[in-house]
Amino acid sequence: MIITEPKPMEEILKMLEPLKKVFIIGCGTCSTVCQTGGEEQVKEMADKLREKGKEVTGAVVVESPCDARLLRRDTRKVKNALEGSDVIVCMTCGAGVQDIVEHVGKIAVPALDTKFLGKIERIGEFYERCRTCGECILYDTGGICPVVRCPKGMLNGPCGGMFKGKCEVGGYQRDCAWVLIYNRLKDLGMLDAYRSYKPPRDNSKLNVQPREIIWAKKEQ
Ligand code: SF4
Ligand code: SF4
Repeated sequence: MIITEPKPMEEILKMLEPLKKVFIIGCGTCSTVCQTGGEEQVKEMADKLREKGKEVTGAVVVESPCDARLLRRDTRKVKNALEGSDVIVCMTCGAGVQDIVEHVGKIAVPALDTKFLGKIERIGEFYERCRTCGECILYDTGGICPVVRCPKGMLNGPCGGMFKGKCEVGGYQRDCAWVLIYNRLKDLGMLDAYRSYKPPRDNSKLNVQPREIIWAKKEQ
């Protein structure tokens, strides 16, 4: 799940300053679950924009705006309203905003900040769980990611800063990722995986710039 949070309204209004006719696109998947871009939040945004003197030409919650096929499908019925707008307020993650821009060809205002790839514990409580490193090692770590959950990204067990199962980073508040990994592997009867040497990561696959990723399924 892509975790997003709303930008401050003042920031959104500043981007909209010179523009009058606004169309709003929400997201029926991640942003709906995060309560940042579902039906309710889109309606609230429309009300706020009208209060500020904007003309809201229409709104739609696209099932997944980051999927070009669904974006095309769900915006077909609002084509005229979209074309008659000066700007699209996108209540989606950054991937959704970019898909909308390509598809609609209008100025886009991102209404959300895209934070991370995470799990949802309950509404409003999200945890980062993956940094899309391109080299997943979760099998060897009992399904606990040290890239995300160890502040030093240790790959072969705890560093010297672990004390009584806690991590020195942040003052021994959080569990040491490698203690969690050890305990999980022990429960699973997989301590051989804990003892196995994990070679240095290929950081060229990490989420670093400059890069361009275009992934297409290879022929079998
Ligand atoms: S090892 Fe890499 S791909 Fe796997 S969960 Fe961690 S960051 Fe994500
Ligand atoms: S104490 Fe554990 S979680 Fe903290 S930096 Fe060291 S290995 Fe990583």
